[in-house]
Amino acid sequence: MTDLPTPARTRFAPSPTGFVHIGSLRTVLFSWLWARHTGGQFLLRIEDTDRKRYVPGAEEQLIASLQAIGMQWDEGPLVGGPHAPYHQSQRLEIYQRYAAELEAKGVAYRSYIRGDEIEQLNQERVERGEPKLLSFRDLPGIDNAARAAAGEPYTLRLAMRTSGQTVLNDLIRGPIVFENATLGMPDPVLIKSDGFPTYAMAAMVDDHEMAITHVLRGDEWISTSPIHIQIYEAFGWQQPVWIHVPIVLGNDGKRLSKRHGDTSITEYLDAGFLPEAIINYLVLIGWSYDDKTEIMTIQELIERFDLTRIRPSAGVFDREKLLHFNGVYLRAMAPEVLVQRIAPYLSRAGIISAAPTEAELARVAQLLPLVQERLKLLSEAPETLDFFFVRPQSYDLGVLVPKKTEPAQVVQVLQAAHAALGQLTSWDEASTEAVLRQLTEDLGLKVGQVFMALRVAATGRTVSPGLFETLVALGQAETLVRLSNAATALSPSLVVS
Ligand code: GLU
Repeated sequence: MTDLPTPARTRFAPSPTGFVHIGSLRTVLFSWLWARHTGGQFLLRIEDTDRKRYVPGAEEQLIASLQAIGMQWDEGPLVGGPHAPYHQSQRLEIYQRYAAELEAKGVAYRSYIRGDEIEQLNQERVERGEPKLLSFRDLPGIDNAARAAAGEPYTLRLAMRTSGQTVLNDLIRGPIVFENATLGMPDPVLIKSDGFPTYAMAAMVDDHEMAITHVLRGDEWISTSPIHIQIYEAFGWQQPVWIHVPIVLGNDGKRLSKRHGDTSITEYLDAGFLPEAIINYLVLIGWSYDDKTEIMTIQELIERFDLTRIRPSAGVFDREKLLHFNGVYLRAMAPEVLVQRIAPYLSRAGIISAAPTEAELARVAQLLPLVQERLKLLSEAPETLDFFFVRPQSYDLGVLVPKKTEPAQVVQVLQAAHAALGQLTSWDEASTEAVLRQLTEDLGLKVGQVFMALRVAATGRTVSPGLFETLVALGQAETLVRLSNAATALSPSLVVS
């Protein structure tokens, strides 16, 4: 006896029409996790049969996104597999073969009526108060035999059943029953006049051929699912387990859009979101492990993921919450790992070399503990660390001189600090702190005034890690140079005032 789940075969079947958006990635993630959880396979299939919607470069983009986020597929483009090819445009003869099978069974038929003729007939029917056409088999004025003899193009349509019921057994919603008599769906095209299959035909044939066990897709497909189920029934195939994943909303309850941050995954990664934080956050939109555990490693998610706990109600994407998750992951990251993740951002900003030296990486590793607590995005690293590498080139005197302080007092502070810190033989936090507190007292100034002036002098900014740790990290010699530069920057203002 084993209680291991049966290995599942799931798939991501994108049409190469655009980017993988953060909102749509969640369904892919659920599919991937289920395959991993059950020890099964996750397939990537490119649904590129709609030539009108084809966007050059989109496939490369989505492949790059999946790779970057770490959702590797077991079968599909680049890796191949027993069901190759995995591009639908290269599988046309497979669909033709299956189409012929349906035709031979009498459940699919050739229809020679053109689109404009359908429109015309429908218009007349509407004017007469009749419902629009559902079947295209035998229509007044359309001589199928003559058109066939003349070699005119045709579409192959599925004859939808007009009695009984079509039942969608959705794992998370339970059975959804459609009455065929009132379905009102025109017989759908399976093969278009150019010989290409429609989504319905190609996706059902491929899910069957590729032995997909669980189909996870957006719930916008529920309304057309009777077509898909009737295709399965027409072939006499066993249906996969259907899971229609609810849509993702923005935090204002509206459909997720660019305005809410529903941009491409690559944009998120470039901005410094970590793949593991994105995955952890996304999985919790509409799924939970136990209603309280939030932070889970990918391994834990794989172990714990359970399809039946996907909620059928819409989930909400909140970029701020994702940012919070990212911060949690960044804080928990081992320094040696964080250095590697941050280095490309520092290189891009010109703070360290494009191919960082050991010394540069060691310096970054030394500085990281000072900023790691407050980091929420990898991309913030350059702005939080650059002053350690680059001396302030100029000073904003408005901030170098704190409120209720005279420029002359600041110069005095800088000179006194330069002298006192220059005397130190041991350069550590306790010593610098002791010296600077004593100096504040000696000058009869407030800690806030003195420390702010020194912080601005040392870093060129008003916000930095703690003053003493910053000075220690800068080093004694560098600190003294900066204090003296700041004093020099202030002196002309003294002459003027
Ligand atoms: N090619 C379809 C799309 O991109 C896939 C839908 C499905 O998962 O079946 O919308």
